[in-house]
Amino acid sequence: MSQSEFEIIRRYFAESGLYFPRSGVELGIGDDGAVLQVPTDSLLTMSMDILVEGVHFPLFADPAQVAHRALAVNLSDLAAMAADPFCFTLGLVLPYANESWLAGFSEGLLELAEEFKCPLVGGDITRGPLSIAIQVHGLCKQERVLRRDGAKVGDLIYVTGTLGDGAIALASLGLDSHLGSSFVVDGEKQTDACKQHFHSAYYRPKPRIEFSNNCADFMSSGIDVSDGLVGDLGHVIKASGVGAVLNTKAFPYSNPAACCVSESNRQLAALFGGDDYELCVSVPALNRREFEAAAESVSTQITCIGEIVTGSAIRCLDSQEEEIDLSSGAYMHFRGAN
Ligand code: ADP
Ligand code: MG
Repeated sequence: MSQSEFEIIRRYFAESGLYFPRSGVELGIGDDGAVLQVPTDSLLTMSMDILVEGVHFPLFADPAQVAHRALAVNLSDLAAMAADPFCFTLGLVLPYANESWLAGFSEGLLELAEEFKCPLVGGDITRGPLSIAIQVHGLCKQERVLRRDGAKVGDLIYVTGTLGDGAIALASLGLDSHLGSSFVVDGEKQTDACKQHFHSAYYRPKPRIEFSNNCADFMSSGIDVSDGLVGDLGHVIKASGVGAVLNTKAFPYSNPAACCVSESNRQLAALFGGDDYELCVSVPALNRREFEAAAESVSTQITCIGEIVTGSAIRCLDSQEEEIDLSSGAYMHFRGAN
């Protein structure tokens, strides 16, 4: 590297504003390890995501956008635990020390780090093919940890925001969505505003931290939708030992998705697409009102899309209340790599 590793750390990480004071962070960048004081009434949760160029983000993508996405998807995992962001660490593999890339990357991190009061407290840098590992640390209250194994028969299934935008965004950006060649965005209907919406959906997913912290008391389980509803809700029902029924008629879609993508492709994106980073949660029926009021109080759109039932599978009903065979060949071939 043309600059010393130490100089990179100082300029783009330690003194870029990313390492800012936060209560509980006793020591951050600069020593052999960070030192954290976890409040006595809290538990520490940790989550890591690795993003590899050309696999998890496009070659030559804007470094600020990549940074934003990398931290956002990690914070989404904290939201899915109903945790409050505490701090994060960064493992960076760089082909060479590219100053403008590092400056953009550092800036992209800063925006979200400040918004969620989540300072960078350490990491490592080494040379190799561009990849980014972020580990976020969050604080949660013991009785409010949002686990995957808490769903009970009779609970209602809700999602935040809209579904399918992540996969539709990939198609809009000309990237492989894994949903097959007939999964297309109608180019003629795609206005600049639609393109902008999909670009933000991909690069700037909104971690649902405020929602999950505010609503944690009323939810029995939760997961963030990163691989499509069928896959992610599948983890919840497996862990909880229950089944689920979904009503596709109720699925919430964004206006751009409704405008630029056919109904069947929207449904495909919601069920099997990835990258939505919305939360899918179960709510005991008795908590319904309080849950909806709590979501409203933080201006988060929520939609009831189904119910937890006995069994061990997800059944999915279409708008005519007919069952969609999720395991049929028609859907199977969409379920490739994610
Ligand atoms: P060591 O040799 O003890 O492993 P390093 O020289 O790798 O330490 O790192 C020095 C300091 O800089 C440490 O506090 C480390 O956490 C921090 N650091 C290294 N890389 C990064 C990075 N990518 N982001 C933030 N901090 C980093
Ligand atoms: Mg050391």
